[in-house]
Parts: sequence; C-alpha cells; structure tokens
Amino acid sequence: MKKNHIEAWNKCLDIIKDNIPYQSFKTWFEPILPVKLEDSTLTIQVPSQFFYEWIEEHYIDLLKKTITKELGPDGQLEYSILMESSYGNSSPITVKAPTSNRKVLKNPIVSMPIDINRGTSKDIPNPFVIPGLKKIQIPSQLNENYSFENFVEGDCNRLARSAGYAVAENPGKTAFNPLLLYCPTGLGKTHLAHAIGIQIKHNFPEKIVLYVQFDQFINQYIDAVRNNNQNDFMHFYQMIDVLIIDDIQFIAEKPGTQNAFFHIFNHLHQRGGQIVVTSDKAPIDMKGIEPRLLSRFKWGLSADLQVPDLETRIAIIEKKLYNNGIEMPRDVVEYLAYNITTNVRELEGALISLLAQSSLNKKAITLELARQIIDKFIKNNSREISIDYIQKVVCDYFNIHIDMLNSKTRKREIVQARQLSMFFSKKLTKASLASIGTHCGNKDHATVLHACRTVNNLIETDKQFKGYVEELEKKIKL
Ligand code: ADP
Ligand code: MG
Repeated sequence: MKKNHIEAWNKCLDIIKDNIPYQSFKTWFEPILPVKLEDSTLTIQVPSQFFYEWIEEHYIDLLKKTITKELGPDGQLEYSILMESSYGNSSPITVKAPTSNRKVLKNPIVSMPIDINRGTSKDIPNPFVIPGLKKIQIPSQLNENYSFENFVEGDCNRLARSAGYAVAENPGKTAFNPLLLYCPTGLGKTHLAHAIGIQIKHNFPEKIVLYVQFDQFINQYIDAVRNNNQNDFMHFYQMIDVLIIDDIQFIAEKPGTQNAFFHIFNHLHQRGGQIVVTSDKAPIDMKGIEPRLLSRFKWGLSADLQVPDLETRIAIIEKKLYNNGIEMPRDVVEYLAYNITTNVRELEGALISLLAQSSLNKKAITLELARQIIDKFIKNNSREISIDYIQKVVCDYFNIHIDMLNSKTRKREIVQARQLSMFFSKKLTKASLASIGTHCGNKDHATVLHACRTVNNLIETDKQFKGYVEELEKKIKL
C-alpha cells in the first residue's frame, strides 16, 4: 500500500521526538507541514528561510536517518519554504535538500584483531564499527560546531580552556593527563571536550580520537558482558590515542564499568595516550567511585568552568549570532544577557526561541518581543529583576557609564544614580542591604539604608523627582 505524506511525516515525527529535547521539537518541528510524497521524496513546508537553514544546520543527520528509516534508502527530503512576496502574501517555493553536505572528521583506518560488532544487540547501535570488516574506520563522533574558535573565553573558563588548549597542542605529553573538566550542566563541558578533540584531529590527523558519552560506553560494556566478548571491547578502546569521555559522573556505583575503564585508562596512559573526561561534579564529590580510580583522576588536572559574567554572556550571544549570520539590536542582546544568568544552555535556548518566534510570525526582533519570550522562558512568569539590570536601566536613563556607579566619585548626578539603584534594588529584589551595597560601589548596608531614606524623602518633596522615579520604575519592570 502506498503511504501518504501525512502518515509518513507523522512517523518521522515520532522518531524525531524521541531524539531531541521537547522544546526543540516544539520550536522546529511542530510548525512544519507535510506537503506531498512522490517517488520516495517527501516534501515538507517550513515557515521561513531561517527555519530551513536552521534545520539543515542542526538536524540534517537526524533527518537523513529518519527519512531513510521511513522511506527506504532512496528516501529524499524536499523543503518548500514559505517566502514573503513583495505583495505581502506568502507563497511557498521549493528547494531540494542538499545531501551529505557535512564534513566528517575522519580517523585513520586501523586493523581490529577481532570483529567487536559480533553479537552486538540491535537496539543499541554500535557507532564505531562497520560489521564484517577487519580494517575499520572509527568515526571520532566530534561535532565541528563545538570548536575552540566558537568557544568564548572569559574569566569563568580561562583555566579549563587553556588547559584544554595545551592538551590539544601536545596530547598525552602534558601534565594534564587525564584532564578532567567539571561544572554543573550547561556551562560548556561538552563543547570544550569536543574542541580539544577537533583541535587534536587538526594538529595530528594520524591520531585516533574518540569522543564518547559515558552512557554509550556503559551500554557497550553491558553488551560486551552479555555477549561474552569483553576482550574485544577492551581491545577496541585500547587502540584509541585520545579518548574523550563525557559525563563520567554516571560511573558511580557501577563497579564492572569502573573496572573496565580503569584498565583502559592504565593502558592508554602507559602508551602515552590522552584522556579527557568531563563530570558534573568535582572529583572529591563523586560518590561511589573506587579510590584507585579516583586517584588516577588526581594524576592530571581538574579544571572547573563557572557561570559566565555579563560580558562573557554578551560575547557568547554575539558569537552565536555571528556564526548564524544573524543581526540583532544591541539592546536585545544586552537584555538577554542581563536576564538569563545561570547557564549558557538556557541563554542559547532563549536566543533560539526568540529567533524562531520572530521568523515564524515575521516580526522584527525587538526588545518588546524579547521581553515576551523571556517572560515565558523564565519559570512562573515572574522574572527576577537583578541588581545588574536595575543599574543598567538607571545608567541608561541618566546617560552615564555603568562603571561610574562603582567609582568613588561624589559628583551629584552619579551619587543620585547610585542612590536610585540602591533604592530600586531594595524595593524590587530580594537582595539584602549588605549585598546591595557590595553591588553598588562597594558600600556598606548603612549607606544603602541612607540612600533609600534620601530617595523616599525626595519623592515626597520634589514633584519632578517623583516623576523620574515613577518613569524609571516602569522601565525596570517592563
Ligand atoms: P555542559 O556539557 O556543561 O552541560 P555544553 O557544553 O553542552 O554544556 O554547553 C551548552 C551550550 O552552551 C552549548 O551549545 C555550548 O556551545 C554553549 N556554550 C557554553 N559555554 C560556551 C562558551 N564559553 N562559548 C560559547 N558557547 C558556549
Ligand atoms: Mg554536556
């Protein structure tokens, strides 16, 4: 029976949904409409050129696999892009999806003693091995977008970045072996781990580099045990020159995997191989790890990544925009960076939602749109106003530079801006007097209290001043 396009696309969506975060699915796949299915070519309509480019850039591999699975090896995808015509109505144009346009970072072909793929279970695909071949190519599984070039340097990540860079220049030969990168989620471990691998492939194409997520490693190990071919598993990993294992915290409480990893580690280390691991905890906080393994981690360097400061957050947004060839007003960039402070992944998520919304509804990217989206983005719809943000709005209002606020100057207008920042911080945030003081020119809590009284007095006595304060409060709360 012939499949129709709606059915086929729904099947594809089922697969896609299982493979990407829900938010991305909603953003990028829900707005797509299936148009037709002819000779194994499925045409889908996307709302804009930007959508098309984004999907091609980020989901092409997944789409290709999905289409092949659903429509067979001849399966093709075509996009129909809704274009804004000069008459104001939208008309679709069709483009053919480019195929296999990605460069793949290749490892040299190596000989395998035995075929490790023998008996591997079907539901956990082994990405490393081509079945039935003695000579194998091990794909390094690196994502080219996660390069050093795309990794913005800041105080928050300087040590980790430069250690990573040193390792990439001299894998296995620095004191940073193993290199352990740790931080809570969303601050750049995975990015940096890939960057090291990419740089090593670039500097030393003959080296076999492998990036693997730790849960993949565990699954392969479990498979190997089940099929009684642990030796093949060990041989495979012992061939690697640069082994990058992401999210190793899952190793806790898994003695079998720990043991396997311990032996692989020792073998690689003795051979001068490089090991890079990442974890969401510092080594000292990793519970359930054997002491002998923990002591191996201490041989090298543990470097943490921290939450980026405002400047770095702005630089990160600008880099992402630049890489995607998108322009965005400076005040919107600042607004994002001021309001999303905890984690780079969230910052990216908000940026992407903003771009998608603007593209979907054909609205310009404005501060207003950014506010709507961020309000939705930040939990409970109650956006926390930060002291940094208050300072920025106050300084913009009086047209003074934010550095002046933290300076020692006693110029009247600066003092007033400082006092207003303190007043609004007290009124609109949950920060203590002491921490407001520290944030506003390193003053003590008594100064903050004095500032609040002064502003309150002025509001009562000076009508014009009261007007300023009301206007400012509106701007801050907007
Ligand atoms: P983690 O592995 O620590 O959870 P990721 O490496 O996945 O975090 O980073 C989350 C997102 O933030 C990625 O898209 C990454 O590119 C981006 N990111 C994190 N730090 C930086 C940085 N310093 N410069 C540019 N992008 C960054
Ligand atoms: Mg990660």
